[in-house]
Amino acid sequence: MNTSAKNTHNLLAGGERATKQKKALAEMIDSSDSFQSAQDIFASLRSKGENIGLTTIYSQLKLLAAQGELDYMKSESGETLYRKCSTVQHHHHLVCRGCKTTIEIEPPGFEEWAEKVARENHFSDISHVIEITGLCEKCLSHRN
Ligand SMILES: [Zn+2]
Ligand SMILES: [Zn+2]
Ligand SMILES: [Zn+2]
Repeated sequence: MNTSAKNTHNLLAGGERATKQKKALAEMIDSSDSFQSAQDIFASLRSKGENIGLTTIYSQLKLLAAQGELDYMKSESGETLYRKCSTVQHHHHLVCRGCKTTIEIEPPGFEEWAEKVARENHFSDISHVIEITGLCEKCLSHRN
């Protein structure tokens, strides 16, 4: 990220390599609209000559998903599949606890309400995380 870090190359060699790998991974996710498994992404990156480990991919995907940058779901075979969130705009997720199917939601009026409440209590620089979890239709029918 910071190109002026070149002077300290010896110290940061590992870090720079890791940053380059993360960038390649981010580009790979950006370039696709469909859900992909870590294995799929690994294969694509390898075929492009990127020297990135599967473990790195797994941990990065998990991290990005936890930060809300990626949507994820479970495939039929139980593999976790990831996809870039359809919008970079602030939004929220409705997530199935059973299969991890993720639906992007925008609670009507919520953002305005959150701003108002914060302002009324003299808070600034506010943020929030909303994730609604439950069971989707498919998972509920499996249960019964
Ligand atoms: Zn999303
Ligand atoms: Zn489900
Ligand atoms: Zn929000």
